[in-house]
Amino acid sequence: MGAFLMMSQVAHLVGYMGVAKLGGFKGREGITRVSERRLRRLVRYAMQRSPFYAKLYRGINPDTFRLQDLPPINKQTLMENFDDIITEPGLKLRDVETWIGNEKPSDATLNNRYKVFKTSGSSGKAAILVYDIKEIWKSTAYEIARGMGGNPFLDLPRVFFRGLIRKPLGVAVIAVIGPHHGTASGMFSLIPSFFLPSKGFSVNSSDEKIVEELNRFDPFTIVAYPTKLEMLAHAQLEGKLDIRPKYIKTISEVLTPSAKALIEKAFGVGVRDTYAASEAAVMAGECQQSNGLHIHEDVCLVEPVDKHGNPVQEGELSHKVYVTNLLKYVQPLIRYELEDVVSVTNEPCPCGMQTPRIEAVYGRNFDMLWVKMADGSFRHLHPQGVDAHITLVKGVKNYQVIQEDFNRLKVYILLDPDANEKKTLVEVKKSLLHTLKETGVENAVSLDITSVTDILRDPVSQKIRRIISRVQPAF
Ligand SMILES: [Zn+2]
Repeated sequence: MGAFLMMSQVAHLVGYMGVAKLGGFKGREGITRVSERRLRRLVRYAMQRSPFYAKLYRGINPDTFRLQDLPPINKQTLMENFDDIITEPGLKLRDVETWIGNEKPSDATLNNRYKVFKTSGSSGKAAILVYDIKEIWKSTAYEIARGMGGNPFLDLPRVFFRGLIRKPLGVAVIAVIGPHHGTASGMFSLIPSFFLPSKGFSVNSSDEKIVEELNRFDPFTIVAYPTKLEMLAHAQLEGKLDIRPKYIKTISEVLTPSAKALIEKAFGVGVRDTYAASEAAVMAGECQQSNGLHIHEDVCLVEPVDKHGNPVQEGELSHKVYVTNLLKYVQPLIRYELEDVVSVTNEPCPCGMQTPRIEAVYGRNFDMLWVKMADGSFRHLHPQGVDAHITLVKGVKNYQVIQEDFNRLKVYILLDPDANEKKTLVEVKKSLLHTLKETGVENAVSLDITSVTDILRDPVSQKIRRIISRVQPAF
């Protein structure tokens, strides 16, 4: 990479972080003013450049509309109108899908410019999300500046000079590693590498291997699922792992108080949770007070709503949320529905940032899968890996995995109408075997894969829980 390009990347990221940091202390009115200005700019741009929004917002005045005037959209709308939503002429679903199907490294970008994520969802087809890389940098900069718990700015000189004279300080991302796996893992991995080189550690690797590689990498920051961090905390307390990260961020799963306490005890630093989704990048993160996740409201709107789409009262649980990343211009998603259940508070936080906070997120509906090995020990099979491997198969519209005993997974596949049943199920099996092998449990798990005409909803929440385990080892 040329020196000029590298410096420009670093300057961009630090600049975004500065704007983010200062913006967080603007006061409630100031933040609302910034987010409103950004929303109007985004809506105007979408109406001019996207035939879909031009039609959807017919009659809407970009200078005077209220947020609630804009009809929400969901995954089905997105995928049915993909080409008309995209604001870059020449970027077509067909080409994006072909590119997804090709083998490539996990940091690959389409046309050297776009990052593409593919997600499963609880209804309908998988969603395909496209970002300009800079849109991701900007979003991630907000999270680094505000959601790391300490003051990353005080670390900048150290990070910079270490990078110049010795090996730079690094970010270890322990997650499902793949070119189209999104949320925080994919986003952190796009930080310019000179600034903070990141290294992906597959969550499916054996615990011993991760520990050994982490000892060698000696990360400055760790981004990982809480369940994986708990394992690392045990290894650190036992002396097998010997690292001194300064920042630890959790993603994707609920961070329980006991896991948080254990991880903090092992590493001696605070653990901060993150709220992110492939559809809206990083939306909220914890400050050093750890009392809820501050929504980065000047760059991302999070609206908790009831079943009918009406706003819920402060502190009440929502049925779903509408999210709008105000920096996402290539594929604008304005008031996009996510099935997360959250409650939001506006109570002032002692840290001084006057943004609303999410008290809890309940939408993370994967159970952990434990496999019983031949010697009676248990190994954990990460649900995110299972999800990613099923979702990537072409022809899968939706799925559900149910584990009723430790050595068998029942996999129910809902096919796309035009998919070839036999071929798709074979592909699902091949893909799942890959993740089982990576985890070292291929001989301990049998797979029952069948196609179904409907996926069952949870009788209580009415949501689809995609990975359900009915067995838990008694530790
Ligand atoms: Zn705070």
